[in-house]
Amino acid sequence: MSIEILPARLANQIAAGEVVERPASVVKELVENSLDAGATRIRVDIERGGHKLIRISDNGSGIAKDELTLALSRHATSKLKSLDDLENICSLGFRGEALASISSVSRLTLKSKPAAQAEAWQAFAEGRDMAVQVQPTAHPDGTSIEVKDLFFNTPARRKFLRTEKTEFSHIDELLKRIALSRLDIALTLTHNGKVVRQYRPVSEELAVKRIAQVAGKGFTEQGMHLQSGEQGLYLHGWIMPQETQTEPQYTYVNGRMMRDKLILHAIRQAFEEHVGATHVPAFVLYLEIDPRQVDVNVHPAKHEVRFHQARLVHDFILQAVQQLITTEQSLFGHQEAQAQAK
Ligand code: ADP
Ligand code: MG
Repeated sequence: MSIEILPARLANQIAAGEVVERPASVVKELVENSLDAGATRIRVDIERGGHKLIRISDNGSGIAKDELTLALSRHATSKLKSLDDLENICSLGFRGEALASISSVSRLTLKSKPAAQAEAWQAFAEGRDMAVQVQPTAHPDGTSIEVKDLFFNTPARRKFLRTEKTEFSHIDELLKRIALSRLDIALTLTHNGKVVRQYRPVSEELAVKRIAQVAGKGFTEQGMHLQSGEQGLYLHGWIMPQETQTEPQYTYVNGRMMRDKLILHAIRQAFEEHVGATHVPAFVLYLEIDPRQVDVNVHPAKHEVRFHQARLVHDFILQAVQQLITTEQSLFGHQEAQAQAK
């Protein structure tokens, strides 16, 4: 067999396999783009669990007419210019892959209007055959991206989609995580024309309000409030010891949602050592760290990071949680008090 370069469309579809697993992953990429564009209001409209339609509208900076086609091309990004930027990344996106990937497996319409541009324009790409059509349209300042018929041209992937209800619950769950990553953003989620969630912007001081909306009132009222910092690391949030249920388990690194093994391990270890098997932790925890101390470019969907000083970060979290558990013994009831006394 001879070696050949893959056609662009096929290369995009293969890349799509890494970032676009299901409707919720499309929502994640698009909402992160809206946040990177400085949006303060984001609306997510879903039809039939995202099988039929996913539409994200924002009031962010918009995309100029001349850049619409480029935005849909692979490795086209406005967020990264050099290796140095990559080492100090503050935006959620940087690979320039999401729009190209999503448009290669759906029918995608991108409408946008930067405030400085008099009219709005739209670009349409179907299955990304590389022929993007650009036309005038009507749209307020900001951007809307409409993704129809996800995986229509990749039947093998389409088969893996679950029921509309399941796919929608993944989207709902994802938006909860996002809602807790940015308290200052207004987020609306609709399904089949009905408003399902409405997160109103709150200030840092009222974080507890939004956390209660997402995780339940009991979580913030009975949970342990954590606040701990040293050596350029700062950890804050809530931990709630539970007997069975372990939701939510949300962690954020510099505002980026994560399911990082090292962080989860440190929290669980603190519980295992100090609480035993009677309680498991539910938590919403934010870690702030110098961006230069973390590598976010280790996972295509960016679920995990690599800490340059992994041991230090792990032990810092472990100790912070241990300390909290020791000072809040009363929460664990009788058994632990007895265990502790031995
Ligand atoms: P990345 O986010 O990694 O840069 P994407 O494929 O997700 O790559 O997006 C490509 C580019 O399109 C972004 O860098 C940005 O310039 C532009 N873009 C995408 N979505 C939006 C949006 N909602 N508002 C403004 N610009 C956007
Ligand atoms: Mg992106």
